[in-house]
Amino acid sequence: CGASPESCNTSHRKHDLPIHGVSETIVGVLGGGQLGQMLCQAASQMAIKVIVLDPMENCPAGALSHCHVVGSYDDSVTVEEFAKRCSVLTVEIEHVNVATLEKLEQQGLDVQPKASTIRIIQDKYLQKVHFARHGIPLPKFMKIDDPESAKKAGDLFGYPLMIKSKRLAYDGRGNAVAKTEEEISSAVQTLGGYDHGLYVEQWAPFVKELAVIVARGRDKSILCYPVVETIHRENICHIVKAPANVPLKIRKLATNVAYKAVSSLEGAGVFAVELFLTEDGQILLNEVAPRPHNSGHHTIESCFTSQYEQHLRAILGLQLGDPSMKTQAAIMYNILGEDEGEPGFLLAHQLIGRALGISGATVHWYDKPEMRKQRKMGHITIVGPSMAIVETRLKFMLNEELLNGD
Ligand code: ATP
Ligand code: MG
Ligand code: MG
Repeated sequence: CGASPESCNTSHRKHDLPIHGVSETIVGVLGGGQLGQMLCQAASQMAIKVIVLDPMENCPAGALSHCHVVGSYDDSVTVEEFAKRCSVLTVEIEHVNVATLEKLEQQGLDVQPKASTIRIIQDKYLQKVHFARHGIPLPKFMKIDDPESAKKAGDLFGYPLMIKSKRLAYDGRGNAVAKTEEEISSAVQTLGGYDHGLYVEQWAPFVKELAVIVARGRDKSILCYPVVETIHRENICHIVKAPANVPLKIRKLATNVAYKAVSSLEGAGVFAVELFLTEDGQILLNEVAPRPHNSGHHTIESCFTSQYEQHLRAILGLQLGDPSMKTQAAIMYNILGEDEGEPGFLLAHQLIGRALGISGATVHWYDKPEMRKQRKMGHITIVGPSMAIVETRLKFMLNEELLNGD
């Protein structure tokens, strides 16, 4: 399918009678990364047509989409042109041109979740202000504009101090930690300086990180997925365990906080709520993503309705599906680039080779053209009858010697 509107039509259609109410609906997705790719996989099962806008010619979602338009989701004219072809517009990344989405919404375009939600979420400081106003528990935070305000924040919150970029953050790339007052200036510098738009958060002394995927339909009905534990490596999500091994009381509290956070936002879709569990049993919100999320990859194999199918159901106004788990336990393991180029590919392929021999393991490879250190290249989900068994399977997968019985 070519990039021009003329070459991207419904020529594959064999009949005019839609099989279900959405088969002629065009879902437009801003972004064509791995989340878009898995959205396309879910869509193809239901014959839902997804077109994606992404600047990268060989982006992961490109080959699986009904049509890939090569262009920037940050460019106003490009987004407006793309939107003309969509019945409903959604996102797989929040760093999009939200002013254009607001304008298009005013002109009657169906944007899900609403542009107002994307505006709040794409600025992490604004997000914190929004959730604080809605009574959601958060680490303390404040804006910093200069060395004086940063020092004041350090005096108030203590050290280590988490300094964050307000915008365009992902995989911890907009975060820097100052362990002492003296480290503030170098931390600020690594984030591009005060003009870049920074704020600070009090260090959250968490014992675990949890996440909840929350689905909200167009009728505002809400369903929550089971609480999972996320384990990060150098600020990047590395392992997800579903369900999280925490007491029922904590699971309920985490689900309630996630439910309340998503209720305060507008529009349909799935949302990921990242949470901290503190030693004294408090749940604090870290951030929300207005889209499918890494912490929900496991749902493809482990839940009755995957987060991707759920997102499509939600934005199209279809009935939401059952979010509960159909397996007892699941672990999602992110394949992060270990090395640049060929050596990195070789290591990843060795891991995949071992995964293929593990019962209950499913390999997802995103087919990104370039291998980079710490880049999310794919993931493997292992399901099984108990967390202990799934953990053993993961150990086998990560350790060749064990697998060979040496
Ligand atoms: P994502 O890829 O999830 O969008 P991001 O770049 O937006 O990541 P955050 O989610 O803000 O970054 O932070 C990344 C990780 O850094 C968190 O998952 C957590 O491990 C750690 N972290 C973030 N904020 C704090 C905090 N206030 N105190 C302690 N650790 C934190
Ligand atoms: Mg983030
Ligand atoms: Mg995060």
